[in-house]
Amino acid sequence: MEKRYTVITYGCQMNVHESEKIAGILEEMGYVRGGEEDAQIIVFNTCCIRENAENHAFGNIGALKKRKKEDPDLLICVGGCMMQEKGMPEEIKRKFPFVDVVFGTHNLYELRHLIEMKQAGRKKILIDIHDKEGEIIEGENPSRTSYPNAWVNINYGCNNFCTYCIVPYVRGRERSRKPEHILSEVEKLVKEGYKEITLLGQNVNSYGKDLECSMTFPELLDKVASIEGEFRLRFMTSHPKDFNEELVKVIAKHDKIPNLIHLPVQSGSDRILSAMNRRYTSGEYLAKVKMLRFYLPDAELTSDIIVGFPGETDEDFEATMRLVKEVDFASAFTFVYSKRKGTKAAEMENQVPEEIQKKRIMSLIELVNAQTRAKSEKYLGKEVTILCEDYDTKKGMYLGRDEYGRMGYFKSDRNRIGDWIRLKITDCSGISLYGEEV
Ligand code: SF4
Repeated sequence: MEKRYTVITYGCQMNVHESEKIAGILEEMGYVRGGEEDAQIIVFNTCCIRENAENHAFGNIGALKKRKKEDPDLLICVGGCMMQEKGMPEEIKRKFPFVDVVFGTHNLYELRHLIEMKQAGRKKILIDIHDKEGEIIEGENPSRTSYPNAWVNINYGCNNFCTYCIVPYVRGRERSRKPEHILSEVEKLVKEGYKEITLLGQNVNSYGKDLECSMTFPELLDKVASIEGEFRLRFMTSHPKDFNEELVKVIAKHDKIPNLIHLPVQSGSDRILSAMNRRYTSGEYLAKVKMLRFYLPDAELTSDIIVGFPGETDEDFEATMRLVKEVDFASAFTFVYSKRKGTKAAEMENQVPEEIQKKRIMSLIELVNAQTRAKSEKYLGKEVTILCEDYDTKKGMYLGRDEYGRMGYFKSDRNRIGDWIRLKITDCSGISLYGEEV
């Protein structure tokens, strides 16, 4: 009988890609991907960015108690960012003693060894967390699930310490992969037929600062974009303080790099940006947007925006609304500030009451949605090229993104995943476009 595994992922793209690495380890051990119901190994890859994600993970781990009682051979492993939080592994042990293995983000590569130790008969919960980031481990063999898209880590960790963010505490300091490893991974992916490559890092602009060889992020991007083959090249995430002209010139030089930049502004108020330790002002942010549009007049921007940060007044919020209007984002991820234990902002006075946060987020969402809608309507009657990446069973349509990240839906009677499709847009809703193949 086949041995099956399942990986349950919470959080960002970084975690999704790490789950592909976990899947690769389990497949090398002889397991095949399966559903939660019939898996013999269940791995939770947790996220601690927001309390919601933590509560979700707690709920889902707790729900396995009965099953573990009925089937003691079921192996439950819990890893990811949450496990790097102080005291969390002990909390897991206390709340869920039936968990078998607890591991962290810095020793994911040891998962096979930990599972084998547990399978060798160790009775108690096995906890192995490395407090400090170690050397970057190469030679991982992720089991990718997102053809025709592939994610490639270029650096790990973060040195920025934005006051609301837990990432530097759980992911450690910045470490860059050597350029030759990144280039050969991308070359291999392109040869295998992947058509959209996304370079991943908490702050891609910091790439190379810790390397002995001298290489900046724009230099790396230029080299990756020069790899032969038909593919799109994206990157995330770019910190506005480090976003510069050199990078924009590389984007302008290569057709493979879409003119869509994700540049998280977080707030339009200088007072709040300073309290967030973002190290740029709204004026500096706007100047970079202007510089980007000078080189790339058709560039679109997306962003992350937090409302209700401690001490945010009506005036601060209005400054955010003004900035959003001025930049005219293609879309934005909007968040209500949520306290993360262990961060500086959680200790700040003047936490904004929930009802004010709610009111502000509603106004912001309304504004962003209106901008997104207005941009989508401009597509009506026009043609766009999308890379087909999935099939939506509910809609009965294939879907894929254009270079600006808009989701295009269309019908086809054969499998189109991985194809470049030219669509004539006949309808739109929010950021989604509907069309017919031409
Ligand atoms: S740049 Fe700021 S928000 Fe982004 S991961 Fe680093 S600390 Fe967190």
